[in-house]
Amino acid sequence: MSHPDTSVPTRPTTLDDPIRLLIDGEWVEGSGAAIALHDPSTGLVIGEYAGADAHDIDRAARAARNAFDGPWSRFAPAERARLLLRLADALEARIDEFARLESLNTGKPLELMRRYEAPMAVELIRYHAGWATKLNGETRQVSLPGEWHAFTLRRPIGAVGLIAPWNNPLVMAAAKLAPALAAGCTTVLKPAEITPVTAALLGELIVKVGFPPGAVNIVPGLGSIAGEAIAAHPAIDKISFTGSTAVGQHLQRTTASSLKRLSLELGGKSPVLIFADADLDRAIESAARSIFNNSGQVCAAGSRLFVERSVADQVISGIAEFADRLPVGDAFAPGVLMGPVVSAAQHERVLGFIEAGRTAGADVVAGGHAPDLPGWFVAPTVLAGTDPTMSVVSEEIFGPVLTTQTFDDPDDLDPLLRRANESVYGLSSYVWTRDLSRAHRVARRLGAGNVRVNTVTGMDPNMPFGGFKASGYGKENGREGVEAYTELVSVAMHLGD
Ligand code: NAP
Ligand code: MG
Repeated sequence: MSHPDTSVPTRPTTLDDPIRLLIDGEWVEGSGAAIALHDPSTGLVIGEYAGADAHDIDRAARAARNAFDGPWSRFAPAERARLLLRLADALEARIDEFARLESLNTGKPLELMRRYEAPMAVELIRYHAGWATKLNGETRQVSLPGEWHAFTLRRPIGAVGLIAPWNNPLVMAAAKLAPALAAGCTTVLKPAEITPVTAALLGELIVKVGFPPGAVNIVPGLGSIAGEAIAAHPAIDKISFTGSTAVGQHLQRTTASSLKRLSLELGGKSPVLIFADADLDRAIESAARSIFNNSGQVCAAGSRLFVERSVADQVISGIAEFADRLPVGDAFAPGVLMGPVVSAAQHERVLGFIEAGRTAGADVVAGGHAPDLPGWFVAPTVLAGTDPTMSVVSEEIFGPVLTTQTFDDPDDLDPLLRRANESVYGLSSYVWTRDLSRAHRVARRLGAGNVRVNTVTGMDPNMPFGGFKASGYGKENGREGVEAYTELVSVAMHLGD
C-alpha cells in the first residue's frame, strides 16, 4: 500500500465553534449529557457538546408544529423555493469551510469532500427548491350520477422528524431538509451523535437566509434519547429515517401506536455482476471505487461481486491491485483518496468481519488489516473464495471490504439472479455487460430498488432512490421523494343532478 505524505501543515485539529442546538430560531445548549467528537484520522478528540434530551426535543417538536400551523404556512411555494435557493447559494459560497469541518469530523478525504460531496449537497437543495412550485393535485373524472367536480389536493404532511446517519452528514442533512421544506413541512433534524458539525453550520445559514423560527430545528444527540423522543412525540407527523435496519425496525414498532408516517432508508449488501463481455478496465475500476469510496461506508456500496469465471482472475486481481495502490491516509493529506472509518467502534466491527471471513476460509487477496497509521484505518480489502454462508457475504459490513464469487454460464440468468438476489437486503445493484438485451433482462429482475448498468454512480437528484426488503421502503429524490412529505386529499363536489 502506498502511504502518501502524512505531514499535513494547515490542518484543523479542533472545532473553533461550539455545537449548539437550533430550536425555534435560537441557539441553545443541549440539556443532555456531554458527547465527545473525534477526528477519525487521528483518533483524537476535537471537541464536545451537550446533546439534546427529551426536554429539548419536546421544545423543538412544538416549535416545528407552531411554525407549521403559523408562519411557515404563509410562505407561498415560490417563497419557499427562493429561501432554498438562497440557502444553496450560501452553502456554495462556503464550500471549503464545510468540506474542512466534515473531513475533520468524519475522516472523509478533503479533496473528495470539496469536489463531490459538498457540491452534491448544494445541488440537492437547488433541485428540491424547484419542486416547491410544482406540487399539484389533479382533476379526476368520476362516473357518478349527476354533475361533479372531483380533484385531489396535495398538502404537506406537517412537522417531520429527520433522523440521519453519520456516513454522509452534510449530504444527508440536505437530502432530508430540502424536500421536506419544499413540500411545506417543518422539520426537526437529528444528525448522528458523532457527526453533528456540518448540520450545525448549515443551521447558521438557514437562520441567516431567513427561514422563520421553528421551520428548521437541529437537535444532535443520542439516538436512544433524542431519536426516541422524536419518534414518540405527538407533534411529529412523519419520520424520515436513514440508518441501520435494526433501528428502522425499532421505529416501526415505536411509531405503530401513533401511525406516524415512516420512510426507511436502511442498509444494503449490493451485488455487482460483471460479465466477460464488459469493458473490463472500467468495470474493475468502478467496482473498486464502489466499495472503497468513503471507506465502504455507503449504503449503496457494491459489496458482493459476482464475476464470470472466464475473467474472474483478471477482474479480482485488477481490483486487488487498485486496492493496494489506493492512497489511504489522513483526510487532510494531499492525494489521499480513502480515509479512516468513522469511529473506533466501526473500526473494530469491520476488522471483526474480516477476521470472521478469514476464519471461515476466505482468501484475503488485498488488505485484510489495519494500516500502521494513528487513526481508525482499515486497508481496502478484497476477499476471494467467499460464499453466502459466510457473515462477510450475508451481512452488511459498512467498511471497505469486497467479497467475490464467480458464475459460469452468462446466458443462464436464473441461477445467477437467484444468487444475486439471495440477500435480506435489496437496495442497489450494478451490472456490467455490453449486451443490451442481457442488461435489460437483468435490470428487470434484480431484487433491488436501484439498478445501475455500466456505471457506479447515477445518483442524480431527479432519480428516486430507495430499497426493498430489509433495505426499507419509501423513496428519496425525484418527484416521489418530495411527494413523500405530502398527503393526498380527494375532494368530490356534487354540482347538481
Ligand atoms: P443507526 O445506528 O441506525 O443510526 C442512524 C440514526 O438513527 C442516528 O442518528 C442514530 O443516532 C439514530 N438512532 C439510533 N437509535 C435510535 C432510536 N432508538 N430511535 C431513533 N433514532 C435512533 O445507523 P448508523 O450506525 O448511524 O449508520 C450506519 C447504517 O446506516 C448502516 O447500516 C447503513 O447501511 C445505513 N445507511 C443507509 C442509507 C440508505 O440510504 N439506505 C444511507 C446511509 C446509511 P445515534 O447516532 O446518536 O446513535
Ligand atoms: Mg448508531
